[in-house]
Amino acid sequence: MQIENNVFLISGGGSGLGAATAAMLVAAGGKVVIADVNKEAGAALATQLGANARFVATDVCNEASATEAVNTAVTVFGGLHGLINCAGVAPAKRIVGKEGPHGLEDFTRVVQINLIGTFNMMRLAADAMSKGEPNADGERGVVINTASVAAFDGQIGQAAYASSKGGVVALTLPAARELARHGIRVMTIAPGIMETPMLMGMPQEVQDALGKMVPFPSRLGKPAEFAALARTIIETAYLNGEVIRLDGAIRMAP
Ligand code: NAD
Repeated sequence: MQIENNVFLISGGGSGLGAATAAMLVAAGGKVVIADVNKEAGAALATQLGANARFVATDVCNEASATEAVNTAVTVFGGLHGLINCAGVAPAKRIVGKEGPHGLEDFTRVVQINLIGTFNMMRLAADAMSKGEPNADGERGVVINTASVAAFDGQIGQAAYASSKGGVVALTLPAARELARHGIRVMTIAPGIMETPMLMGMPQEVQDALGKMVPFPSRLGKPAEFAALARTIIETAYLNGEVIRLDGAIRMAP
């Protein structure tokens, strides 16, 4: 799928990995709709990126809100060719004890945003993409979901987060197989420890220690590296149904 003149919807596009991807796509000649619950951040980024970017206040868990985001891509820019699902939350909570307990409400909220929100955006975007014209490869669209290495390597405090991201990993293959008949690919990126606002709340010494645990390069991942991988996925039609770890080969000890 070429980026130039094509239209991409980015959930969680107001910050971190989604914002870097939005900037990459506009720089490569694409048009982007930034869909985020954070109105200030999303609107500011769209203004900064110029006429080829729009912001729509969106809650990925809400059907009407997600539908409006998809419709904006179609009505403002004339179609939809890609969805990059970056919206997510990562609260740390213990299952029992004084740093928990992990109530059902907390657990449900994380799964609701990270997994059900991802599915909600994907199904609505895929419906819009399936109505578009295929390119020379027969391709109508590409979906990139964001999991996490926590899906494979969940740490203490990540019961809900790891479960939600494990769901995103498991969603990849059945979605890719089913949507293939519509000319839509589905890929998942599982980032390791990336330098974004989600992590920047940690003390600097913790960030440095985490960076040193990465075999190579011995540092945290950069949002631009996520955007570069998203670009490769978008532009490579033969990449489909796969989960790619973007983690410098880190494997976390318990
Ligand atoms: P971030 O906090 O910078 O950005 C996440 C964005 O999602 C925010 O702008 C937030 O407003 C938005 N969002 C949250 N709930 C939403 C909702 N209901 N509807 C719409 N938007 C919503 O975080 P990030 O680091 O850029 O994370 C992006 C994705 O990457 C997340 O899914 C996260 O779990 C995943 N991830 C991040 C890391 C990391 O180390 N930063 C590692 C692995 C996976």
